[in-house]
Amino acid sequence: MDIVTGFMIWAAEASTIGVLLWSRWFYERQSFYFTWGTGFIFHGIGVGMVAMRGTLPDFVSIEIANVMALAGIGLWVAGMLQFDKRRVEPFIAIPSLIFVAGMLLEPVRTSFSYRVALFHGAASVGYLMLIATVLWGDNGRSQTRRVFAACVGVQVLSSTIVAIFALISQPQSFATGNNSFLLLLVAALCFIAAIMSGTKLINERNEAKLKLLAVTDPLTNLLNRRGLIDEFHLLKRLHASDSGMLTLIHLDLDGFKQINDLYGHQAGDEVLIAFAKIGMAAQRGRGSFGRMGGEEFASIMYVANMIEAASVAEAIRTTLKQRPIIVGEHQIAVTVSIGIALADVRTADLDTLLSTADRALYVAKTNGRDRTAIGTESDVSIVPAIDHADQQDTPARASMTQQVAALRRIVAIGK
Ligand code: GH3
Ligand code: MG
Ligand code: MG
Repeated sequence: MDIVTGFMIWAAEASTIGVLLWSRWFYERQSFYFTWGTGFIFHGIGVGMVAMRGTLPDFVSIEIANVMALAGIGLWVAGMLQFDKRRVEPFIAIPSLIFVAGMLLEPVRTSFSYRVALFHGAASVGYLMLIATVLWGDNGRSQTRRVFAACVGVQVLSSTIVAIFALISQPQSFATGNNSFLLLLVAALCFIAAIMSGTKLINERNEAKLKLLAVTDPLTNLLNRRGLIDEFHLLKRLHASDSGMLTLIHLDLDGFKQINDLYGHQAGDEVLIAFAKIGMAAQRGRGSFGRMGGEEFASIMYVANMIEAASVAEAIRTTLKQRPIIVGEHQIAVTVSIGIALADVRTADLDTLLSTADRALYVAKTNGRDRTAIGTESDVSIVPAIDHADQQDTPARASMTQQVAALRRIVAIGK
């Protein structure tokens, strides 16, 4: 097989991949598909025109062809930037510009071997840019990214070797060129491997998106119940050798059915979204806040003690109470009842936490709503609160644990 036939096969393959990527873009409308597709088509047409040297006018098969093939490499870099949600910068034109600049020099313009060296030198720069983009992207260096970079690395190496050979052996045309068949074969195989790992990169991202979707509540964008369960196991593993506690805070909006009835379901949804923001803000950095379903939310956190858990819960409750939610022309006053359960991080069991928090929540509801209750294995205590100072001794079913007593003293000082 001569080198010109090889170029034609290469051109046909690149163009086919380009069209496939364009069709993917047509269905998914993600700009990187379009950019990569255009990159392959440019590269394919460029290489094809190089191969048609003699049939096409020299200006087309030399200047335009090489610049297009190199612009294709620049577009692969651009597509990678888009894939990582980064801005496309003008530097992607560097490979093409190197060729244009080289062609301004008389000795290069008139020498076949210098032009071959110039093209491959510019291509190496383009491939290096691609490696830098894929490894220093925002999304970290996954295994797939490294494999991709290694495959492109082989392109850098082979392009550089071809450029050096061209300078040393000074061929006068493709026919007399001393092209190492083995080198081209390795480069072609690694090119295919690069495309395969690129495909894997796309698949991995799509999978990650689906996984995220499966644990996200679409209305509030919070974690859903499943996401919260995952978070519990994650925190438990993360703090396996720590001595703190895991807490489950179960929050249920008060009289929510009435809000729907009074202001409409849409307004109810707005209230849920506003509450989600309050909850997120209150526990930021400590764990996670999610929606269990309906008007029920939960937070799972790693805390030092009961007081820390109670403070977060109280922060959410009092913030909500002080801040009526504005929906259209309505100012909707909303309150929330909260049940807290805690367990030593090493022995924490999700089912037990859920049922204890639920029991505590029930006590908070039956003791007048708009309050926080902490459940232990044997009893439930209402958390003393400044805004309920006048009713502090009323809870009938609630008894005091030592820490709740401590909290009561803190509240007393705060008054
Ligand atoms: P309580 O104080 O005892 O908690 O009373 P409640 O009205 O909040 O509780 P209940 O369980 O009786 O009603 C919950 C309501 O939440 C009923 C349901 O229509 C409404 N709801 C559930 N999911 C959504 C939602 O996604 N959007 C809206 N707007 N309402 C929802
Ligand atoms: Mg409920
Ligand atoms: Mg409710």
